[in-house]
Amino acid sequence: MSESKDFLRTIVEADLKSGKYKEITTRFPPEPNGFPHIGHAKSICINFGIAADYNGHCNLRMDDTNPTKEDTKYVEALKDAVQWLGFHWGDNVRFTSDYFDQIHDYAIELIKMGKAYVDSTNEEEMRELRGTVKEAGKRSKFAERTIEENLDLFERMKNGDFKDGSHVLRAKIDMSAANMKMRDPLLYRIRHAHHFRAGDKWSIYPMYDFAHCLSDFIEGVSHSICTLEFENNRDIYNWVLDTLGLTTVRPFQHEFARLGINYTVMSKRKLLELVEGGQVSGWDDPRLPTIAGYKRRGYTPESILTFCDQIGIAKANSMVDVAQLEFCIRDDLNTKVPRVMCVLDPLKVTIVNYEGSEELESSYYPDDIAKDGTRALPFSKEIYIERDDFMENPPKGYFRLTPDQVVRLKHAYIIKCKEVIKDADGKIIEIKAEYIAESKSGSDTSGIKVKSAIHWVEAKTAKEVEVRVYDRLFLDEAPEGLEDVNPNSLTIIKNALIEPAVITEKPDERFQFERQGYFYADPIDYTDAKPVFNKIVGLKGSWGQKKKPTTEAPKAKKEHIDGEVVAMSENEQALFNKYSELGLNSEVANTLARDEQLSSFYEEALAELNSPVSLANIVTNEVARELKQMAVHELKFNASQIAELVKMIDDKTISNKIAKQVFEEMVKSGNAPTKIVKDKGLVQISDPSVISPIIDEVITKNPDNVEKFKAGNTKLLGFFVGQVLKATGGKANPQVVNKLVAEKLK
Ligand code: ATP
Ligand code: MG
Repeated sequence: MSESKDFLRTIVEADLKSGKYKEITTRFPPEPNGFPHIGHAKSICINFGIAADYNGHCNLRMDDTNPTKEDTKYVEALKDAVQWLGFHWGDNVRFTSDYFDQIHDYAIELIKMGKAYVDSTNEEEMRELRGTVKEAGKRSKFAERTIEENLDLFERMKNGDFKDGSHVLRAKIDMSAANMKMRDPLLYRIRHAHHFRAGDKWSIYPMYDFAHCLSDFIEGVSHSICTLEFENNRDIYNWVLDTLGLTTVRPFQHEFARLGINYTVMSKRKLLELVEGGQVSGWDDPRLPTIAGYKRRGYTPESILTFCDQIGIAKANSMVDVAQLEFCIRDDLNTKVPRVMCVLDPLKVTIVNYEGSEELESSYYPDDIAKDGTRALPFSKEIYIERDDFMENPPKGYFRLTPDQVVRLKHAYIIKCKEVIKDADGKIIEIKAEYIAESKSGSDTSGIKVKSAIHWVEAKTAKEVEVRVYDRLFLDEAPEGLEDVNPNSLTIIKNALIEPAVITEKPDERFQFERQGYFYADPIDYTDAKPVFNKIVGLKGSWGQKKKPTTEAPKAKKEHIDGEVVAMSENEQALFNKYSELGLNSEVANTLARDEQLSSFYEEALAELNSPVSLANIVTNEVARELKQMAVHELKFNASQIAELVKMIDDKTISNKIAKQVFEEMVKSGNAPTKIVKDKGLVQISDPSVISPIIDEVITKNPDNVEKFKAGNTKLLGFFVGQVLKATGGKANPQVVNKLVAEKLK
């Protein structure tokens, strides 16, 4: 629990102190019309958390008053989520539908009091009569019906004598109330629908505003906690209970702010669209913000509880950075899980001067973590390293293996590159290397300094595994709709290689793959024949470093496991810290900070355009490559032109891919990027009227795939999008294409 009390707990404590309640009872009241998401987790933590903190009780209540959308599979998902988060609801799950009889009796009581009437105006007229914020409404002429008439009509509504929509039961409150919700709100409507629990017993169903307060009362709830959008419904809540004279225990409603997270959508309706549209594999797709999704991805319940605690409870809606949630899981796993080695993109290395084999006893945990456990790491002359841990023509600041730079194999030896073997296309297929026998980890007497240590696996004993890497599901921070879905949110790596102990010893379900991130054995698809791991989260994020003043500033050193690292000067460290705070990852921040030429070029560009991450990417890759061959004053382009180029990427005038092409041209001609884009017609095409005919052509050319798509293979959407992008030479705006293709194939 947070050290400082939130406003809800302050209210609860005051109510206990004043004797208003002897016991605290809360409830978590989801509608079972979809899987719960991280927003529900917040509500679960609040309701169950408060009950636990004050020795009270929290009910799990299914708010099942809408028969057409609800289903038992959602009830199960909700139960599972609450349990997984570690909360208990007592003997049984409650259902609003269990109270339908009682709620109906209360309606009759209101009618008898002259406080409710059957209205038979049609929907449109009813809307007109309600008035506006500025103008009072007018009561319907049916409000004059006698109590007997109302009782008779209501009975016949219940018996199914009328069509849907022909009559409603309304509370008789105040048609000129400033709070529009109080202008004779609906209490019951006719619905000839089968209810998943109540069956066909009812032809009328109570509205939320009537059912909720009464269910709270029936259950003896003291604090009815809900989100801010119900603020205006509070008056009805009170009116119903007060009018019926329901006083002990009298529940009161309190509202808090909804949780929103960037780069995702959070309403069950939108999540359902994603699930039904096939953009994700199901409600438990690890890219979704559902509890089932987080669970399958490998998040721990603890990390979600910490997150809910950190974001606190407030009265103002706000958007939380998803990086904060990622920080919580990273922080939780950092000290818990074994660290192992897995190579995602293998490059073979043959150590020509090593004979035989050995087993290196290596710890699963670094020294600063108070956990024990070791495994034997097989080593021999054939190993695999990560393809990008070797570079033949490295940019300045590259610390890993090169023809001229040694590197340490984590837990093993220092190696140096002797020969680079390529295939006919010039692709590197193998490195011949030599190891330094005296450099064995733990007993290194070689005196050789290395700039970094890399992970690796031994060729014969390594196991092949599938690794699923997830990226944000949406490209946009605040996605408007499903057309913002990131087409590259899932990458499947089929042939990653992992050290054998992970598979044979199974020391855990979650791991840190050294230098790659945290991973989880997929609870559904993992088999001994085909192990599958989900990437939970990467090793680094910007959030924790920026917002947690108590944690030490990140040190570039951290990245270079176990080998000795040339220390940074004070200046370089200061730059590194600054760049980390701007959101650059440590690798990029490192490269910039350690290279004066690059950092001053970067600073100059940054002064022109506040886009730190995109600028850093171009400067450390493209610009750095050029600077290896010439001095700054010899370059044909300058920093402000790079800023101009990045601006065009940022505002989506050009795609990333096209930007590379423009850069090549800048290097050659020295022309301004805007001019190049204009002259060569490289502007990204976002105009639907231009893209549309191209899509039509692709559709006409692929009738088979259209048929398959329409038959339900929605994954083919990607195929069509790809074809259209190809046809425009990569110039079409992928988001627009996505949207149009989806519309046309409907
Ligand atoms: P959605 O719009 O996602 O369908 P909802 O509000 O309709 O959500 P319910 O099933 O009615 O979902 O909600 C159950 C409880 O969870 C309610 O008390 C609701 O206020 C709360 N809740 C729903 N979404 C959030 C959220 N994003 N943040 C905090 N609480 C939430
Ligand atoms: Mg809802």
